[in-house]
Amino acid sequence: MEHNVVFFFFITGLVFGSFYNVVGLRVPHGKMFSSSRSACPSCHNILSWKELVPLLSFFYQKGKCKHCGKAISPLYPIIELFTAVGFAFCCLFINSPLEIGIGLLLVSMLAIVFVSDHTYMIIPNQVLLFFLPLFIIYRIIVPTNPWWLSVLGGIAGFGLIAIIILLSKGGMGAGDMKLFSVIGYLVGFPHVFLTLFVATIYGLVFFLLQKLLHKGESPLIPFGPSIILAGGTVFFYGSTLLDWYFSLYY
Ligand SMILES: [Zn+2]
Repeated sequence: MEHNVVFFFFITGLVFGSFYNVVGLRVPHGKMFSSSRSACPSCHNILSWKELVPLLSFFYQKGKCKHCGKAISPLYPIIELFTAVGFAFCCLFINSPLEIGIGLLLVSMLAIVFVSDHTYMIIPNQVLLFFLPLFIIYRIIVPTNPWWLSVLGGIAGFGLIAIIILLSKGGMGAGDMKLFSVIGYLVGFPHVFLTLFVATIYGLVFFLLQKLLHKGESPLIPFGPSIILAGGTVFFYGSTLLDWYFSLYY
């Protein structure tokens, strides 16, 4: 892959990442389209374009608002950088154009869900309703054989989290259930079970990281990002993972 193309994906990712911050923060409040200009959450000064350059503005302003000096959440540059690296990664390591599309969609979904799940512990329905039709279109163009394995994956994803919610008495939310149903549709049956297993491992890693970063307290772990990350892992490497697993026994 040419360097120029990878760089183009990286820069596009920075711009989209900046947009996903806004989507993730505004959609749960239902004001995505009402207040158009970005403002500082502390002093409410409208931000100029110089303060809205992805990644660069944050470092140029040393992580502080130019007007009131309040610290800007590191979530902004983290999501911008994550989306940029994710887009470049898809361009570098995925061969078929359609699958690059799925990779970009998963990175985008992960960025948006991370922002709202981390900030409000909410996975907005609007976000899921945006991505589900795109996954359905992909499955129509590149069908699983037979087609009902996708549908069964969606139902199983919903059911698995419903059972966990019942057993753990609310360890997860309805948002996780709907999200896992969308991801279950994409990976299909029986890969949906492998996805749950991988998501649990990611969740555990995030939990231990949080424990290390915030010593003493045991923080609530948003499970949404782990589900999407696991969905991507299984979508692209599920068969490789299973081959490797069974090769240990035979
Ligand atoms: Zn300010």
